[in-house]
This record gives sequence, C-alpha cells and structure tokens, in this order.
Amino acid sequence: MPYPLTLATMLQRNRLLFGKKEVVSRDFSGIHRYTYADYNVRVAKLANALKRLGVRRGERVATFGWNSHRHLEAYFAVPCMGAVLHTLNIRLFEDQFTFIVNHAEDAVMLVDEDLLPAVEALADKFPTVRAFVVMSDKKIVPPTKLSPVYSYEALLDAETGECDWPSLRDENTMAALCYTTATTGNPKGVPYSHRGIYLHALAICSADVLGIREADAVMPVVPMFHVNAWGIPFAAAWMGSKQVFPGARPDAKALLSLIRDEKVTISAGVPTVWMGVLQLMEREKYDVSSLKAIICGGSAAPKALIEKVEKGFGVPFIHAYGMTETYPVVLVSRPKSYMKDLPEDELYACKGKQGTLVPGLEMRVVTEDGAEAPRDGKSMGELRLRGPWITEEYYREPERTRETIRDGWLCTGDVVTVDPEGYVQILDRTRDLIKSGGEWISSIDLENTIMSHPAVAEAAVIGVPSEKWTERPMACVVLKPDFAGKVEGKEILDFLATRVAKWWIPDEVVFVDAIPKTSVGKFAKRFLRDRFKEKLFA
Ligand code: ADP
Repeated sequence: MPYPLTLATMLQRNRLLFGKKEVVSRDFSGIHRYTYADYNVRVAKLANALKRLGVRRGERVATFGWNSHRHLEAYFAVPCMGAVLHTLNIRLFEDQFTFIVNHAEDAVMLVDEDLLPAVEALADKFPTVRAFVVMSDKKIVPPTKLSPVYSYEALLDAETGECDWPSLRDENTMAALCYTTATTGNPKGVPYSHRGIYLHALAICSADVLGIREADAVMPVVPMFHVNAWGIPFAAAWMGSKQVFPGARPDAKALLSLIRDEKVTISAGVPTVWMGVLQLMEREKYDVSSLKAIICGGSAAPKALIEKVEKGFGVPFIHAYGMTETYPVVLVSRPKSYMKDLPEDELYACKGKQGTLVPGLEMRVVTEDGAEAPRDGKSMGELRLRGPWITEEYYREPERTRETIRDGWLCTGDVVTVDPEGYVQILDRTRDLIKSGGEWISSIDLENTIMSHPAVAEAAVIGVPSEKWTERPMACVVLKPDFAGKVEGKEILDFLATRVAKWWIPDEVVFVDAIPKTSVGKFAKRFLRDRFKEKLFA
C-alpha cells in the first residue's frame, strides 16, 4: 500500500502499547517521572496549546532546551500537528543564534526556564517569533522581559488531552529542521522529512545498528538540539523503551547516578562525555552493570577510550559516525561474527574505525582524481552518500545545496579509507588533514595514538605552516591532573616513535590547560589554529 511513513504512526504505537512504561527526567527541582500514558495526554495538550497560539501547518516551532520530558513532548506534538520542530543549539554565539532564528522564521519558541537570559538578550532581534513559552516545573512565568510569554505548564493545563491530529498524507512533509554548526559561513539548515525520520529510526533500532528495544532504558546524553539527539528519542518512543533525560548541565556524577538508579541499558554521547565519565569512574565506584552499550560518535572515539570502557567496565562500546545532513547515523562499528576471535589489537583496531554502512544507505569513496578508491584500507577519498535519510537540500540555500549535493550524492567533506571487510575509517575532515611534503597526515590518527599515552587526558593535532613541507603537525596536549608538569614533550614524541610513521611525528608538542570544545563538545581546532597562527616550522 502506498502508506505514508509519518511520526503519527510512531506516536500511535507508543500510545496503544506502552502506557505503563516510564519517562524519567532530571527536572529543575528533582527527578520527574511519568508514564507514556501521561506523556501522550500531554503531547495532545501541547499540540492543542500550540494551535491556540496560532501555529499553522508548516510553521516552525523552536525549542531552546536541555534533554527533558518536555522536549520529548515537543518532539512528537510539533511534527504530528503538521508543523516543524526546530531544535536550537543553546550554546551558539549570539550572531549565529540570531541568524538561525531569522532564517528559519520561527513562529513560537519554547525555552527552558534557566536559559531565559540568553533568549532575552536577543529577543528584540527575533521579529518572526510571536510567542515565547517557558518550560519549567512551575506554572508561573518568572520575571522576564520576553513578550508575549506563557508558562508551558499553565498552557497545558488549559487544554484537553484529546487532539484532532491532521492526517498527513505526504510523508515528505518537513517534520524537523536542524542547523549544522558550519565552521565557515552561516549555519546551514537541514530539513528532516517524516519519511526520513521514520526510516532512520527503523534502521537504528535494528540489532546490528544501535539495537534499541522495548526492554531498554535509553539515555541520550547527546543534546536533543544536536541532530535530534541522533534520532534516538523518536526510535525509543516508537519501540516503547524507557527513556531517561539528564536535564540541565549534566556532569559525570549526574550521568553515572542516573545510569545506576534508572538501570540505563543504552546511552549515547560524544567522546568528551565518556572521557569525563571514565575519569570519574577511575576515582569513584558506580554500578554500571545495567549498561549493554555505550554509543559514541560525533568525533573520533580514541582507541584508549574504547579499550578502557570495554575492559575496565565490561560495557560494549559502539563507535558510530554521522552528520546533521544524515539524520545522523551512517556507520556503526560492530566486528562481524567471524571476527570475534581476532587478536585483541586487530579487534580494537576494527572497533576504533567508524564502521560499516547502516542498511538502507549507499556510499562511494572518491579519490582526488574522481576515481572510486579501492577497498584496501589505505587509499584515501571523500565519503559520498545517498539514501532515504540523507538530505537532498539545505533549507532555503540553493547555492550551498549545489556545492554539497552533486549528481544525487551528498559530499560529506570527510576523508576516509575502506578496508576489504568494508569498515570505513574517517581520517579527517578535509580541512583538518595535514599536508606534509605532498603526503597527507591524519590528525585523528595521531590524536588517537597520543591519547593512548597513560599521562594524557586529551590531545588535538593541528597543521602548522612549514617552509619546507607546506605543513607539519603540532600536538596540543592536556595532561591528566596527576601528571601535570611531570611530562616533557620529548616523552610524547618518543612514545609516538614506535607507533606511527617517522614523518608523522609532530614537530612540536605544546602542553595546554584544555582543548577548546565546540558547542556540542567536539574539539574546536579552529581556536587552536588561531592561537598558534604565528607559528612557522622550518
Ligand atoms: P558540526 O559541524 O556541527 O560538528 P555535525 O555534528 O553534523 O556537525 O558533524 C558531522 C561531522 O562530525 C562529520 O562530518 C565528521 O567529520 C565528524 N564525525 C562524526 N562522527 C564521527 C566519528 N565517529 N569519527 C570521526 N568524525 C566524526
């Protein structure tokens, strides 16, 4: 049947089957818990309230909030009423924030109580926003200069829990809108269709991808404003999994407490999240025996991290790759069944790669001269993708769409190798690759190796101009607190000498207090490049 693939179907299954299952949220005044039965009533109330605020089909409803049950309510209420869920990144610089709200022409903005100051500072510059709604556990709006402004809880109280959902016949209707944090130029909006979200959710639930099941307790640490928390809340609601949301500013302690208390089985976040969690677990004991998988992506997971999580804590570590343009999951690293007896170093080398293609997608790896790179684990090329959850356009950006989507393929800008088993390894973003004497050096590989040194907490490698070689690598290293001041650059270089090709060894190691992070917790090498822009190697 030509049956439209929409979020309404997903929500309906949740409502009919999983009324007794729980949603737990670290709310402003403590842990909040309710069931999907309560959830569904509130989703309907939210849709009614938004309609009363005048939200029409196709209009954008923005959220500016942490991972919470209210945010999950918006995840379904907004698309199911035919409007577009626009998750705003709460950590953007002011000019990007202003650009995005205006580019998306958001009609209503739902704002978490503690984030009001950031919105108040710019509200005058948001002419399209007709109403602000404060998400809080209180029914009164705190003093604010936002106007007109409403309390989320008071709005819901005034509505009935039945909603006359529109029937969405066109599965290609836009359901959500996410902006990338583009490092050059203005952020780009990526429209997400109902169909794409639906098929991506099916794919990530499958056993060899993320394996999300009814029996799971799923905790997305990856923000709900970052690629829709990797699509996990949609999938988990559909399957009826318990969901656990870590709320405002979750630190390692809060995350570990939630894992222990709520018996979390699957959690997902960027590597820096898990590095922080590991550091705390090395000092304090937490029961994490409920975990069956830690999913880690967004930037390369250092091999040392994967080994420590698996061996030290007995938790399977699943490395994944994707981008905003791909909803996002594209690659997942799970060794094949006949690989499980491989020698340990080969097994971890495989787990350290970003993995094999998720079923449903197609990929090509294209070399500089336009040929398809052989699958030999060595030849480098750009990863290109197509499939039902790969975007076909940037929102209202025909020019930039043409630059990135060519001949029906999304050009990822990521340079990769593919081995004969089909495992893809991301070497770098094109702009991060270091060109030394006509050869390329992968900064990710170098960082990974440096981070396996026992004294190193974090490391980022950048290219520095060189008179002779065009560029040479420089390593910026953060030592673990116990080692601060006790390790010299030479020790790191000696450590590398037996582990990487001689010409990869950085010309210099500088020790820094911290590696700057992007708004979603990735290493922000741009700031390091700026800081060391005067450097020139021979
Ligand atoms: P932003 O530009 O805001 O960081 P994305 O979250 O869409 O936007 O980032 C996608 C990029 O992140 C990919 O193109 C890739 O360079 C990088 N990336 C994502 N996952 C991984 C991973 N597992 N290993 C290495 N790089 C990754």
